[in-house]
Amino acid sequence: MKQTSIIEISKSAIINNIGFIKETLGENVRVSSVVKANAYGHGVENFVPIAESCGIDHFSVFSAMEAFRVKQVLKQPTTDVMIMGHIGADEIEWVIQNGVEFFVFNFCRLQLAVKVAEELGIKAKIHIEIETGLNRTGFEREELKQVISLLKTYSANLTIKGLCTHYAGAESIANHVRVQRQISKFNKTYKWFVKNGITPEIRHTACSAAAFTYENTRMDMVRIGIMQYGFWSTDETRIHYFHKHKGQLDRLERVMSWKSTVMSVKTVKTGEFISYGTTFLAQEDKKIAIVPVGYSHGFSRTLSNQGRVLVRGRRCAVIGLINMNMLIVDVTGIDSVKYGDEVVMIGRQGKLSISVHSFSQLSDQLNYELLTRLPSDTKRKIVK
Ligand SMILES: *Cc1c(COP(=O)(O)O)cnc(C)c1O
Repeated sequence: MKQTSIIEISKSAIINNIGFIKETLGENVRVSSVVKANAYGHGVENFVPIAESCGIDHFSVFSAMEAFRVKQVLKQPTTDVMIMGHIGADEIEWVIQNGVEFFVFNFCRLQLAVKVAEELGIKAKIHIEIETGLNRTGFEREELKQVISLLKTYSANLTIKGLCTHYAGAESIANHVRVQRQISKFNKTYKWFVKNGITPEIRHTACSAAAFTYENTRMDMVRIGIMQYGFWSTDETRIHYFHKHKGQLDRLERVMSWKSTVMSVKTVKTGEFISYGTTFLAQEDKKIAIVPVGYSHGFSRTLSNQGRVLVRGRRCAVIGLINMNMLIVDVTGIDSVKYGDEVVMIGRQGKLSISVHSFSQLSDQLNYELLTRLPSDTKRKIVK
């Protein structure tokens, strides 16, 4: 049986995007490919092997469960996996046993890491996350003395892989001052660590926006998510980058397309309301196509009477309220539309295309949000 819609993943677009990122950052900066949230909706099992074949040898995820999934599909035994977020108390043994790296941002996790590493007789590979101003996770300045002392005491159980932090909105110039303060705080703290006898192997702080907006955040490694999938973090990031690199072409390519087919076609008489309630009144005789995709499939209800899809190479309006499993498209005037015709929600058809960007703008979602809300059970198919 088939799903009512399909997500296509373009292999050549992934290769292109990773190529652009690596070329821009140069050989001295390691790229950690961020594949949390099912590789931003693209599918871990699809994305990771292609990224690895492009020379990516470090992956970042949010949770132990995600690390497990990445580990399952890795080909190179030397490729590293790093957990930036949650690890259950009953998962940390697996994490350490399997050499998965992880952020340590409080004493609770540090003590647990030491205890389990001691029991296993294996060193835990940790990245010390410090608070620099996002105010989310990370050791506070007042805690650092004690952190250093614990790291020294338990050096037999720990490999200090990295020192890291995360910025509070590097994608918007409005946060410029805050980000600059974070950079400076991070650099000071790193020096302080070294002075006090702890030298982490690497420093990493940058997400996509930071790496492409503030070059001094690149350090030894960057954690790149959204750009691999073909999107600038925000318009601001893109504009800022090309302002500084005049003449360069925007090489990022959308990796994902999302398609369905027409399920039914009918005509509706002037004066009738279409779909639930009274949000759409037929002002003329209408021909409509029903598409088996609704808000339960990730097509946001806020796109009711707003969205656009491509049918028969034409841009068509989504009319009426989006239903749980269906949406209705105005195909008045396109006589040839019939059952089984391709419908493109995101992607290209003929000369036209619908970007994730326009889709997310209309539905008032971030690119990030739209991508990661596409249900993980919708089939992803790799195409050229
Ligand atoms: C998600 C995430 C990233 C990647 O962010 P992008 O904007 O997608 O590049 C980097 N670091 C941390 C801690 C993250 O949570």
